[in-house]
Amino acid sequence: MIKAVRGTRDLLPPETALWNFVEAAVRDVFHAYNFHEIRTPIFEETQLFARAVGEETDVVSKEMYTFYVADDPQLVLAQAWLLKHRSNYTTIDRLGGYAFKTAFAAHMQNGVEVVVVGPSLNYFDLPTLRAEWNSSAPEAEQEPKLVVVVPPEEEQYARIHTKENDIELRVVEWPDKYEPPQSLTLRPENTAGVVRAYIEHKLWDRGLSKLYYIGPQFRRERPQKGRYRQFYQIGAEVIGPASAGSESPARDAEILELLATLLDRLGIQNWTLELNSVGCRSDRATYNEALRKALEPVKDKMCTDCQRRAVTNPLRVFDCKVPADQPIIETLPRISQFLDEPCRKHFEQVQEILKSVGVEFQLNDRLVRGLDYYTRTAFEFTHGALGAQNAILGGGRYDGLSESLGGPSAPGIGFAIGEDRLVLALKESAEAVQRKPDVYIAPLGAGMDREAARLARELRRHDVIADLGDETFRLKKSFETATKMGARYILIVGENEVKANAFALKNLESGQQVSVPRAELAKTIQSAK
Ligand code: AMP
Repeated sequence: MIKAVRGTRDLLPPETALWNFVEAAVRDVFHAYNFHEIRTPIFEETQLFARAVGEETDVVSKEMYTFYVADDPQLVLAQAWLLKHRSNYTTIDRLGGYAFKTAFAAHMQNGVEVVVVGPSLNYFDLPTLRAEWNSSAPEAEQEPKLVVVVPPEEEQYARIHTKENDIELRVVEWPDKYEPPQSLTLRPENTAGVVRAYIEHKLWDRGLSKLYYIGPQFRRERPQKGRYRQFYQIGAEVIGPASAGSESPARDAEILELLATLLDRLGIQNWTLELNSVGCRSDRATYNEALRKALEPVKDKMCTDCQRRAVTNPLRVFDCKVPADQPIIETLPRISQFLDEPCRKHFEQVQEILKSVGVEFQLNDRLVRGLDYYTRTAFEFTHGALGAQNAILGGGRYDGLSESLGGPSAPGIGFAIGEDRLVLALKESAEAVQRKPDVYIAPLGAGMDREAARLARELRRHDVIADLGDETFRLKKSFETATKMGARYILIVGENEVKANAFALKNLESGQQVSVPRAELAKTIQSAK
């Protein structure tokens, strides 16, 4: 049996009703704050995430689903070789060595060549291939010559190995139209894609862009409750030229207030907002230097990841989850001591607005978030009921991101809510929010499916939620089906009813049954809602 891939899962009714409930509420809130939806592709060039999120982050270095798209380079090269050299040989046969898609026995008047075409070839396998050919052609008197064909950029490297192994090296050019393989990645987050789109479509012409998205993201993490390899995020970004107000602390506060409103609206209580400022580029440079210095004498006692981070990107040491490293991390200098005057002021203003609108928060100067692009405000909302994976959402400001992707200066701030976790934190039951049919239409006897279909069409046109049975069902079965699906009414469509053009409508809660003329059915059903 084929099952869903580990770390992915199916969302089935009635649970999907909860997801729709969340998404409808979220869209309402976004619209109230004048946000508009953006949908970016599920996959992007790998480079986008490497540059935006940062090479040294866990997300990029360990968790991305990356794949290459191209014509198979080895086959393309083999074709180029065949086109160019076929005339030198009397016959050319494919060789069947399992590791060699493009190995040939090429026969000439006076001998045989074993030719392997391909970049990144394992040269040491060539003698094996010759032995294989020899055993498959015992009548051959001559040892075949070994030839390896490589593209120009591999020539230098290949020459070292072919010399050692008595192999002739030939170079074949790639065909003119050949495009090298493209590295693509399933998006692990959506901010990079939104900023890419902002730059690509020159959205700065529109002033401040307030964009939201809802969709799947992909990370190769260890699956557990609340953590999946395909998960869903609801996010928003406010981005634009500084002249449009994108840098203002008012934007940060507005985003945080929106989030508080959203969680309240969904009935999610007991959340905690943790807030920090991770400073700007210049603060970060001095801070990174201080961290590097502080880590130097202790880094050898830390995990291998931290030893590397301590040199390449010390801020990422704060992402470490290894328990033994935590006491060391506790002693490291805090970013709060390194904020320059404008950053400190910006952060204070964010806090002042939050206090004035009554959104509670806790300062946490160890919160640096796992992505490199954050500057200044960084935040996370956590929720007690979620267990170990208690971060329900996270976000922050990313003032230099557009420039680092080749765009103009475009300060911005955004967040991503883990929709899977949001749904887990809801109090509502899926049953309670799932919409039930208003009426179950039960055709009774031969020829009644036609009549029932007509009635269903009329009722649905009047926004009645109607489900439809089958004329082969006995009345008892129709009643059972209607009750099981939670329909409010059952409508009997038998020959007598059709003749009278009035139908038996039974309220399944009260048990009351009435005969209702066709023209009044929709109204009667709707009025009792
Ligand atoms: P991040 O992009 O890492 O800041 O994540 C933002 C939010 O997405 C987190 O707070 C989680 O709620 C959610 N999230 C991140 N990774 C996963 C995952 N693997 N499974 C489920 N939710 C996730």
